[in-house]
Amino acid sequence: MPIDPEFKSKRQVVGEHNGHPVWGPVDPPKVLGIHGDKVAVDFDLCIADGACIDACPVGVFEWVDTPGHPASDKKADPVNEDQCIFCLACETVCPVEAIKIFVE
Ligand code: SF4
Repeated sequence: MPIDPEFKSKRQVVGEHNGHPVWGPVDPPKVLGIHGDKVAVDFDLCIADGACIDACPVGVFEWVDTPGHPASDKKADPVNEDQCIFCLACETVCPVEAIKIFVE
């Protein structure tokens, strides 16, 4: 199941992390929500494949440790989402379709 492209109308921002919003529900360590605004990563789908980190030409993502999460113990966090040039490479390569880009 890919990230819900309509999540912004269905979820609420419940916090802030590394300069981006976190969309709930959140119940750590097992439920982590969606991180980001322009570059949204569903942490509950991310399996830490790393393809997005390799694909991104501008270094938007950094690993963040998430011990105890059932899908993976680290996530690709969109810490530099303001640098995004909307190439959509990350969306395309993610094997579990955990990323949704909101083109400005
Ligand atoms: S759309 Fe392109 S520039 Fe933006 S985060 Fe994804 S890979 Fe990086």
